[in-house]
Amino acid sequence: MSENENNENNKNNKNNPKREETRGKNRTGSQNKRSDKQSDKQSSSKLSIEDMASFCKRKGFVFPSSEIYGGMAGFWDYGPNGAELKNNIKNEWWKFHVQSRQDIVGIDGSIISNPKVWEASGHVSGFGDVMIACKKCGERVRADVLIEEAKGIQCDGLTAEDLGKIIQENQITCPKCGAFAWEEPKVFNLLFKTHVGAVEGEKSVAYLRGETAQIIFSEFKNVFEVSRLKLPFGIAQMGKAFRNEIAPRNFLFRCREFEQMEIEYFIHPEKKNDCPFFEEVKEEKLLVYSAEMQEKGTEAEQMTAREALEKGIIQSPWHAYWLATELRWFKRLGAKPENFRVRQHAKEELAFYSSDCWDLEYKFPFGWKELQGIADRSDYDLRQHTEHSGKDHSIFDEEMKMRVMPNVVAEPSLGVDRSFLVFMYDAFDDNKERGNIVLHLHPKLAPIKVAVLPLVNKLNGKATEVYNSLKEKFVCFYDKSGSVGRRYARMDEIGTPFCVTIDFDTLEQEDVTIRDRDTTEQARVKISELKEVLSKLLEGEITIEDLK
Ligand SMILES: [Zn+2]
Repeated sequence: MSENENNENNKNNKNNPKREETRGKNRTGSQNKRSDKQSDKQSSSKLSIEDMASFCKRKGFVFPSSEIYGGMAGFWDYGPNGAELKNNIKNEWWKFHVQSRQDIVGIDGSIISNPKVWEASGHVSGFGDVMIACKKCGERVRADVLIEEAKGIQCDGLTAEDLGKIIQENQITCPKCGAFAWEEPKVFNLLFKTHVGAVEGEKSVAYLRGETAQIIFSEFKNVFEVSRLKLPFGIAQMGKAFRNEIAPRNFLFRCREFEQMEIEYFIHPEKKNDCPFFEEVKEEKLLVYSAEMQEKGTEAEQMTAREALEKGIIQSPWHAYWLATELRWFKRLGAKPENFRVRQHAKEELAFYSSDCWDLEYKFPFGWKELQGIADRSDYDLRQHTEHSGKDHSIFDEEMKMRVMPNVVAEPSLGVDRSFLVFMYDAFDDNKERGNIVLHLHPKLAPIKVAVLPLVNKLNGKATEVYNSLKEKFVCFYDKSGSVGRRYARMDEIGTPFCVTIDFDTLEQEDVTIRDRDTTEQARVKISELKEVLSKLLEGEITIEDLK
């Protein structure tokens, strides 16, 4: 639930309407400079988020929504290449987190549900940001963003009243007209309202879901009864969520409509330190930034998940396990480990029901930002739904022979759109030698796997034959226009791992050239073996070198 996509912590926001974005405390200044220095070699760190947005538009990944009518802030449309990449990210997430595990099952809930779900969860009463309006020009801004941008003061966990006081004390003026004439700050609810049925009125009000998590909780009893799960277990869901953000920004990072990939992981309340999977990930290296390090102003430290746990920096093996597991998911799909760190929430950032929370963060061009919050949510949500629905959400634990209210020890909650940005940034290479951009996307994520290119138009017949033999098995693209060099460059720019070129020798020898995106190395392969060779190349079982 923390949902991340747009607000990361929103769950926390619910009782604590403010946090979120401010919490990326490091969003500016020195932090950025340091990171730039560290990664001078990576062209990705130099690409601003605006430049990334324009690249994504140019190459058919993402367009501003309804652009022909002037667009709509906080909404984006995925184009042909973006839709493929996004689907690939979701498929890989589902395979890794649901299909390849016995302890996690998935659901696909509705976007609109009975509004009581959102009353029970606390979203109707307290899911919001604090907004403040200028009496002179009418400008509306988020109070925490105003303070942070004007004074660099951290506002995590502050109430509307606190924020109003800081603005008054520091005489912070309107960024638009310069006046110092603010209305009282107000909490602005982020839930999108709609009406269900033919008659609009109080009784027909419903909400677009503000996070996917609550559907996991409201379906908890049904899922548990049919799936024969035993504690510990998780329930996963991917899908759209909506937040009426006051200030959507940073391209896909903070949108009003976004997509989440979430797990609620339930354990026996007396087994908080018993994580049966920890061994699998204990040697995973993490860049750890604890609350203490943040307080003392020291640097984040590299250590294994095991060391972090043994030193008591990460206290729960479940947190260590999920942080390492999530990092592992990103890494296996080609993300660069040096751009990730795990950061502990300071005390004042924690929601009242949460005993500890760690975020997996990524180094965006606008600072280290949350990708995923791993909060301990205790039994808060199941208790809320028990109370509001009158239906008992406790379960019988066979092993301990007792009834318990399961605790959510972790809720790995990841934004699809943020993950999309991560993979784009870590793949992006403005390759001066080639004179074009090369997107080094992992083959599993690449929108197009294989391009089929006839050297000249005369070879269309043979090339079409080859294309037809591959298209059922791989997402293929057929391109016959322009020089071969230009066609290679176009494929590099959208991340196509392999190009298959048909030349005059093909007619004689029944073989083709395969060209590797990352190295530009080429090898000849018999058409009869092409499908199998491409499969192995895409799976990483062989490299182009092995074919020479
Ligand atoms: Zn103003």
